[in-house]
Amino acid sequence: MDVKFSDLKKTYNLYADEYEAAALRALRSGWYIMGHELAEFEEAFAGYIGKQHCVGVGCGQDALIIAVRALGIGPGDEVIVAGNTYIATVLGVTENGATPVFVDCNKFFQIDETLIEAAITERTKAVLVTNLYGQACDLTSVRQICDERNLWMLEDCAQSHGARWNGRMCGSWADVSCFSFYPTKPLGAMGDAGACLTDDDELAERMLMLRNYGSKKKYVNEICGINSRLDEVQAALLKVGLSHIGDMLAMREAIASRYDSEIDSPLVKLPEVREEAEDVWHIYPLLCERRDELKTFLESRGVYTQIHYPIPPHKAQCYKGRGYDAVNLPLTERFAAQELSLPIYAGMPDDEVGAVIAAVNDFR
Ligand SMILES: *Cc1c(COP(=O)(O)O)cnc(C)c1O
Repeated sequence: MDVKFSDLKKTYNLYADEYEAAALRALRSGWYIMGHELAEFEEAFAGYIGKQHCVGVGCGQDALIIAVRALGIGPGDEVIVAGNTYIATVLGVTENGATPVFVDCNKFFQIDETLIEAAITERTKAVLVTNLYGQACDLTSVRQICDERNLWMLEDCAQSHGARWNGRMCGSWADVSCFSFYPTKPLGAMGDAGACLTDDDELAERMLMLRNYGSKKKYVNEICGINSRLDEVQAALLKVGLSHIGDMLAMREAIASRYDSEIDSPLVKLPEVREEAEDVWHIYPLLCERRDELKTFLESRGVYTQIHYPIPPHKAQCYKGRGYDAVNLPLTERFAAQELSLPIYAGMPDDEVGAVIAAVNDFR
């Protein structure tokens, strides 16, 4: 049996009839960009997360770039970021000409909130945290630090749709939170899509302009923006996905809890989740000192895994010469060498989950 890391066809087939009806409705409407499918999705998603405004954009990367730009952050400014994150988080800062300041993670893979204060300088404008793998970081502490030090708080929620910290939704804590609806994310479109959420009317207004060439009124360009819009077909599909998100998250949760209880190999360490965090299991991360051997072994058994992430952003080739590679992030670097992500997605068959568990337990 081959077990794919993710099988989007199976996720799609859960609600295929509804997706197809929604796509056809959007296609037949004759209105493809910024119409009522988008307006309805934005309203529904803002309500789900618990924010006043949702601004749909082209992808999660654009959401990050637009959020940082809307706050007026640019050259000379510093933004504190998690060292252990996908590079898109950091590109959101560097694409605006600002400087990322990396903070190491804790054993939960999340930004270590106790190291944030020490990273703040005169130039710090914001703290951009990632709720990584579907688990919240300590959002209470991050919010408190930002309030006390008068800094903007940003959340990268590209992996944490529906996740909570202390009972409150990820994405509801920050001044602006950024979501991706890349197909494999806990809420995925069938193409690229993303969103910025905020409670601030002015920031929402600026982000609406930034995604549309910097204009509210056609041909009146108030600021320099870009073209990054969430189209009607994707918005229609996302409305369907959002109406089933609870069920899809429960499916991921059920797989994670089988991995938790049935994997008993002494050679791997299972993920720990803090009591305050309600994890949505975008990624199920194992740690293994012989990670590469384990990955090859699982492949020989037909089980396909991934690594999130083999090269941490501060070591990325694109940032060579900026001095980031001199940054010391011991846990981030250890996890880059030891992390292995097991298959997990909504619609994953039980026998495939069983095959993953058996294969991991057979590794010697
Ligand atoms: C997926 C992802 C992004 C980027 O989202 P796209 O929609 O692919 O541009 C940003 N940050 C994190 C943490 C992600 O996982």
